[in-house]
Amino acid sequence: MKTYIVGNWKMNFTVGEASIYLHKLLKTIKPAKNLQVAIVPSTVALQPLSLQIDRKKLKLGAQNCCEKDYGAYTGETSITQLRGLVDYCIIGHSERRYVFNETDKMIREKVAACIRNGVTPILCIGETESERTFGETKDVLKDQLVSGLKDISKEDLDKCIIAYEPVWAISSVKGARPATPDDIASSINIIRDHLKATYGKEIAEKIPVLYGGSVNPNNAGAYLTIPGVNGLLIGGASLIASQFNDIIETAKKVAA
Ligand code: PEP
Repeated sequence: MKTYIVGNWKMNFTVGEASIYLHKLLKTIKPAKNLQVAIVPSTVALQPLSLQIDRKKLKLGAQNCCEKDYGAYTGETSITQLRGLVDYCIIGHSERRYVFNETDKMIREKVAACIRNGVTPILCIGETESERTFGETKDVLKDQLVSGLKDISKEDLDKCIIAYEPVWAISSVKGARPATPDDIASSINIIRDHLKATYGKEIAEKIPVLYGGSVNPNNAGAYLTIPGVNGLLIGGASLIASQFNDIIETAKKVAA
């Protein structure tokens, strides 16, 4: 299976800054077997970057999309409009769930919209600090998987990527602390066991599961070698080209 390195730039960089960053990255990055690197800029930068990108080296993703394909939805961007520009779309990021109050229904409809439009959804799931404290991690992960994948047929499941992102480990969250490899391994087992029980062993083993939360060049290698982890979703460290590049280099060694 491929190793995925995905940089979520969130609401950072002007279009000009994004273009300069991409220019730098394209100079350093070399395509590697079994490694897929993607950057996920703001919606406004997707069109210009899609003209600049070398898709043999890098892919583009969107940070969010509307669950509808077109219509009277002021301020929204549909995946129908984004397809052709992006290969991936992050869905259900914790900032969408908890800052923008996205419901389970919206999230599953967005996942379905991606599949309908030929874009790979990266469905983010993860427990909050208090859910973890109260021993609810397993239930939360299972509920978010059941709900997020509800409108997806078994045949389409292998067009999805899951990202496990414990909210308490996301660097921009107040009091965030990095997850230990044991914390992550236990949640990845919950995710894989659920997928296996629901969809069967074959598909459960085929779906890429990424980890995200305070990843940096120092811990990337340890996170990437956790059994069942197929890549990393990176926020803060992806904003610094040298750090993102170091993580890519580490991933290359792991993927080789
Ligand atoms: C994220 O928000 O998806 C994320 C993983 O952020 P960070 O790497 O900054 O913790």
